Amino acid sequence: MKRVLPAAAAFLLAACAGAPTVDTTYSALSQDSRIQFIVLHFTSTRFAESLETLTQGPVSAHYLVRDEPPEVYRLVDDSRRAWHAGESSWEGNTQLNASSIGIEIVNLGDRGGEWHEYAPAQIDAVVSLVAELARKYGVARDHVVGHSDIAPRRKIDPGPLFPWKRLAEAGLAEWPDAELVAIRRSTFEVTKPGAEWFQQRLGCVGYAVPRSGIFDADTRRVLAAFQMHFRPARFDGEPDAESAAMLDVLASTRAGDASWCSG
Ligand SMILES: [Zn+2]
Repeated sequence: MKRVLPAAAAFLLAACAGAPTVDTTYSALSQDSRIQFIVLHFTSTRFAESLETLTQGPVSAHYLVRDEPPEVYRLVDDSRRAWHAGESSWEGNTQLNASSIGIEIVNLGDRGGEWHEYAPAQIDAVVSLVAELARKYGVARDHVVGHSDIAPRRKIDPGPLFPWKRLAEAGLAEWPDAELVAIRRSTFEVTKPGAEWFQQRLGCVGYAVPRSGIFDADTRRVLAAFQMHFRPARFDGEPDAESAAMLDVLASTRAGDASWCSG
């Protein structure tokens, strides 16, 4: 005898066809947050224009930190991808839009060689925001970077006036130990390392750098990005003893477990 489903049951079965029941009894040990990096930018435009660009244009960021007043706006939910990094690389990871939170800070950047100061209250807001995000997602200190770090050939933001040292003092970013830097600096003042050495150390710190063995234009740009971040008093890409010492100290903290550091 043919059995006929009641109309309501047939409807329910059809509705469920695309959505299977998922059993969540078991959970894998091997997992971490999709958010691995925090990338800082400056907008290079005033607030109104920045807001328009980041909400209506072909680029975006998760957060926009205004200068006056220092409000924090969320423009993209943390769980979704914002389009702020572009072609990018850090510690061997590429295409960082997929794995990062982007924070745009309203600042005019470089106008004819004059860099605009960040307002202290705005920096306070950035530090609090980075602290909250790093805590929430377990972002490591060496994964809090600037746009110029992950795209040194294209980008200069957040610029030489961004206070990376302050982020480091708050435990949110890396900074080389000053005493170790002083010791190594005196060594490098006697014998300056060659291009290959600089390229290897820059690679260890996280930068995508050519391994050409010569101080080509790309290597200088990467070294300039490093200097802008860690030694902003001069960022001309010249391989001086102080840069070498800072690089060496930072690279040596990574070398042990850094798969991208070989070579
Ligand atoms: Zn940027």
